[in-house]
Parts: sequence; structure tokens; C-alpha cells
Amino acid sequence: VAEVLLSLKHTIAMAKYLELVRDVDQAVVVVRSRPDQPSCPATCCDCCQAAAALPVGVAEMEHVLDALDALPADVREYVLERAEASVRAFLDCDLDVKAVTDAPLRASDALHGRPEAACPALVGGVCAVYAHRPIICRVWGLPISNGKGVDCCPKTRPTGAPGDGVIPYVEYWRKARTVSASLGQEAKEPMAHLMLRRWQERQTERRSGEPGRTPSGPT
Ligand code: SF4
Ligand code: SF4
Repeated sequence: VAEVLLSLKHTIAMAKYLELVRDVDQAVVVVRSRPDQPSCPATCCDCCQAAAALPVGVAEMEHVLDALDALPADVREYVLERAEASVRAFLDCDLDVKAVTDAPLRASDALHGRPEAACPALVGGVCAVYAHRPIICRVWGLPISNGKGVDCCPKTRPTGAPGDGVIPYVEYWRKARTVSASLGQEAKEPMAHLMLRRWQERQTERRSGEPGRTPSGPT
């Protein structure tokens, strides 16, 4: 019974997360339609090139891992090997998971220009989990409210005043955090570390028949 309840809790939490993703995507369509809103250049993936340290939530990572699960085995292995390489590279710079979590930008700078700095899901310049990418990946490239003001990639900053054309990122993040908390971990964790850890935990859960077991990790 405990396993069924755990699985049900996981299913409900992820249904809420998917509802949030739909809201985010709808807001993105509206803001993108502003006439003064530049689009990302077709071949640009500069932000993904420094996203191994990107802080993401457990709910977001569960969604990413569903996509990873559906990838051809060789691509999935490649992504996981890259996550492992990033974690190793951070450690080589004396940056453990806490250090990367506490200062993601500094951690990213420590690997500047190295392939290990990139998001593990970036394969040949393309996001291998695109439909399941985290919330920040869905909105970055548009003006977002970050709790202190409006932030935007310098390459896609609108030419006019932001006005209503701002994505309420803080509100979305709070909702995602609530879902993550219901899955057992409220705090964000770096992309590479969380991907690797949750993937390994998922395999253990499958072997033990405990789907949606509460993840362990920093809170
Ligand atoms: S998940 Fe996809 S969009 Fe997000 S940083 Fe990684 S490669 Fe880029
Ligand atoms: S958000 Fe900026 S860096 Fe990222 S793909 Fe768009 S233009 Fe490039």
C-alpha cells in the first residue's frame, strides 16, 4: 500500500508540474509575439554551453529524465557520460555539489570554454530533451522577472520598454518549487549533478519496484 501511495503522490505532483509547463509555454507564445521582441538566432546555444551548473528543481529533472528515458540508448549513455564528466571536472576544480549549488556562476566560470561546462543534454548543438527542458530553458531569451527586476539575454533584449511583455519567472519558479517539495526536495541542484543522481536513483527504484521514491539529497 505504501508503494502505491508513493506512486500516486508522484503522479499527482508531476500532473501539477505539467500544468505549470503548459502555463509557461502559453506565456512564452504571448511574449514572443511582441513586435519588438527579437528571437534567438537559429544556431545559437550559448546559454546551454554554460549550463552544467544551472540550478534546477527535482520536478523539472523528473520531466527531463522522462525524455532521457525515451532517447536511443547510445544517445542517453552519451548524455549521462557528459553529466559524469562535468561532475568530475567540477571536483577537479575543488567544487563539490554544495560549492556548485552555492555559486553556480563562479562554478561555470571555473570550467569556461571546456566542454564539461555545457549542459549534458546539449548534443551536437541541439537540446536532446527539448520538449521536456526545465522552466528556465523555456523562458530564457525573453524578458523575465527575477524577483529583483527584469532580466534578459543581452542578445534578445526587446528594443521597447518591457511593459506587460515580461515572463513572471519568479511565480513559475515558486510553483515548481512547491511541486519539488512534494517530491521530497525543495532545493535546486546543479543540472549535471541532479541528472546523474536522479538517474541512478531511478534505476535503483526500478530494481526495487518503488516508483517515485522520495529522492535523497540536499534540502
Ligand atoms: S536542458 Fe536543453 S535547453 Fe536546457 S540547458 Fe540543457 S540543452 Fe539547453
Ligand atoms: S537566450 Fe541568448 S544565448 Fe540563449 S539561445 Fe537565445 S540568444 Fe542564444
